[in-house]
Amino acid sequence: MHEMALAQSIMDIVEQEMTRHGATRVSLIRLQVGEFTAVVPESLAFCFEVMTKGTPFEGVKLELNPVPLTGRCQGCGKEFKIRDYHFICPQCESKDIETIAGKELLVKEIEAE
Ligand SMILES: [Zn+2]
Repeated sequence: MHEMALAQSIMDIVEQEMTRHGATRVSLIRLQVGEFTAVVPESLAFCFEVMTKGTPFEGVKLELNPVPLTGRCQGCGKEFKIRDYHFICPQCESKDIETIAGKELLVKEIEAE
């Protein structure tokens, strides 16, 4: 299960950060979830809840912020949201599009005590 592995890697990242900052308790984890990652937020939240049961992470809130798939035209430099996977520039119709956002799954912020 895709989300199970993701929940695990999120926990690993948060654990590392906590050690680095000497934090003992986390209250909230804020994530950036790219549209293109095919992650189902509810499913990820559920996996996280299951995996953290009985660990110091139990009860931590997971906040998922979706990031729309965004491209930049290599021809004219226009940045635009990619809809329905149409990698075509709305301004000059070039198909030379670089994806600049929407593929990431990042831990953006951790609120700890
Ligand atoms: Zn263009």
